[in-house]
Amino acid sequence: MLEIRILIVDDEKVIREGVERALAGRGYVIDKAENGEQGIQMIKEKGFDIVLLDLMMPGIDGFTVLSWIKENEPHIQVIVITGFATVSKAVLAMKQGAFDFVGKPFTPDYIRIVVDRAVDKLTMQAETEKLREEMTLSLEAINKEQSRLKTVFSCMAEAVLITDRHGVVVHHNPAAIKILEIQTDPVIGKPLSASIRDNTAILMVDEAMANSVVVTREFAPGSISRKFLRAHCAPVKSDTNILLGSVTAFEDISTHKQIDRMKSEFVAMVAHELKAPLASIEQMIYALQVDCEHEAAHSCNRLHNRITVRTRDLLRLIENLLNLSKLESGTVVFNLEPIRGHEIIKDIVDITMPQAEGKNIKVLYTPCKEDWWFNVDYDHIRTAFMNIVSNAVKYTPEGGQMEISTSVNGGLANLTVKDSGIGISEQDLPHIFDRFFRVKGKATRHITGSGLGLSLVKEVVEAHKGYIDVKSDPGVGTTFTLSFPVTEIKELV
Ligand code: ADP
Repeated sequence: MLEIRILIVDDEKVIREGVERALAGRGYVIDKAENGEQGIQMIKEKGFDIVLLDLMMPGIDGFTVLSWIKENEPHIQVIVITGFATVSKAVLAMKQGAFDFVGKPFTPDYIRIVVDRAVDKLTMQAETEKLREEMTLSLEAINKEQSRLKTVFSCMAEAVLITDRHGVVVHHNPAAIKILEIQTDPVIGKPLSASIRDNTAILMVDEAMANSVVVTREFAPGSISRKFLRAHCAPVKSDTNILLGSVTAFEDISTHKQIDRMKSEFVAMVAHELKAPLASIEQMIYALQVDCEHEAAHSCNRLHNRITVRTRDLLRLIENLLNLSKLESGTVVFNLEPIRGHEIIKDIVDITMPQAEGKNIKVLYTPCKEDWWFNVDYDHIRTAFMNIVSNAVKYTPEGGQMEISTSVNGGLANLTVKDSGIGISEQDLPHIFDRFFRVKGKATRHITGSGLGLSLVKEVVEAHKGYIDVKSDPGVGTTFTLSFPVTEIKELV
């Protein structure tokens, strides 16, 4: 409830007091002024809601006060008090903005009625103002909410396409252009087929709207980028269950698909890589059982050797797999210890000799004159070196040659393995350290492998702060150089 402040401006005391009496006990705050000057002064000082104003006063008359109020305090409701003889003046005052008039002599009831009307007007004005303020605030909130939603919609990583019930695009976010690789400009106002080439996705929207269900589909948008998308389409209905259109969200699942494909390839590769040598070992064991009683001893030895080689291949594959998965999961703890370079390399050369001899490959080992030591995890470094050296044997045809050498310079020890093998083309060279990468071609068709060896070598070498250099000439040979920081160098005696 508003507190109404009323000022009575009249030069006649009886009128001032009569009006005051008529309005007493109604909860108003009432003040009185004897003339126009005092009235204006009090309005300036205290502020009022209603002014009961005598038009005919000595000094500043009621009209002057009225025009001052209209100019300076237009919210004040002015009720003019005038004699019956001067009703025309009251009409004039109302034309100049007075709210109403009271003719003298007046009854207290009449005064109350007129003042009540002015109070009603003020109350209504206040309520209207409040409503207007509330409306402005809620409009601001709606605007804010809309812009918030717009921002969220624009920043979403998923593509969103909204259609009307005829399948015409009515809205989309920027991600839609990117993910769906939309060429049409603009998309809005065009049928879905202008933005999605894949028929499955278009039918999905029809199906969602026709059956009122959420439909999910995976599809390739058919672009050169080999993307794979998953789309969820939902029908949109009004409160009264009338179909309005559809909302479809598209997520790029190319990476998931690629991982799935890699997993399947991996399982197939491991199964194949384990099965082939195991089958040949089984056959050789069978041959040993059947033949050894009758065959000469050297034939059995040959079979034994082949079984050993195949078993070692298998073990290396399993070892590579286990090491790589451990390295990738970050659970490997390197047991660093000072190792003598010459010793570890000599050991590997010795193991490699029978394999190389089996293919009639000449192995030359030239250690440097320095006795160098490095701080490494023996098992991991040995596996890495073994992979490089056995690759050289594997990818060098019968009768070829391998040169293994070491050198020390600039605080680094270098192990160089040079072969006269099939070599690696310029295009394949940047990929040989990728997991599961194998060069596909005539020369490698019959050579088994997993494509894991070199990725493991790279992980191990880099974990020991070393690096790898590779040079290759197809048909001539390949040279791998592994370099590590040395911890100690002694002169060989
Ligand atoms: P794989 O088990 O296939 O040998 P790697 O990761 O050890 O896997 O090697 C990746 C690919 O690099 C091989 O498939 C092969 O094509 C090529 N490669 C590695 N070493 C040599 C080499 N010394 N000579 C020729 N090609 C090689």
